Amino acid sequence: MFTLIQLPYAADALAPVISAETIGFHHGKHLQAYVDNLNKLLPGSPFEGLSLEEIVSKADGAIFNNAGQVLNHNMYFTQFKPAAPELVEGPTGKLKEQIEQQWGTIDAFKADFVAKGVGLFGSGWVWLSAAPGGTLVISQEPNAGNPVTRGLKPILTFDVWEHAYYLDYQNRRAAQLQDLWKIVDWKVVEERYK
Ligand code: MN
Repeated sequence: MFTLIQLPYAADALAPVISAETIGFHHGKHLQAYVDNLNKLLPGSPFEGLSLEEIVSKADGAIFNNAGQVLNHNMYFTQFKPAAPELVEGPTGKLKEQIEQQWGTIDAFKADFVAKGVGLFGSGWVWLSAAPGGTLVISQEPNAGNPVTRGLKPILTFDVWEHAYYLDYQNRRAAQLQDLWKIVDWKVVEERYK
């Protein structure tokens, strides 16, 4: 049985980038439904008792879709913290060095990441992942996709399903993705990169 993750912040803590209303629907309704659907599908399947990563790597169809959406949202919701406007936030250490080696600057990386999120047609996710050896990869994954299916280790993701931003930004997907940088908890992303 999988359970709905607890958020490591109050529902209104990420406003105005992500409002309490969006958190209520996105975490409380959408993610809860994926968790409930997965728990209904798993009994009697070959995937009972496996981790989310294992299920996503091996399953297809409805089990893949629901397990993928649980895994993706668990990573998404745990990578944010309240915005600290007085600080210029960004990655440090090895992750900063690797981004600068591949993109030149952090701003150039952010622009590339947002452009790939904006360019994803329809619903899905844009991901930053580490390949074996530590090279970073940005990928667009449609629907419930997750880079673990291609042997990558995902470390950061922006949700580009309309349910993630429509209440707060309507059709302005690019504006939402730009603003998400204000609430990314880089310590979490760095920890995933280790
Ligand atoms: Mn979502």
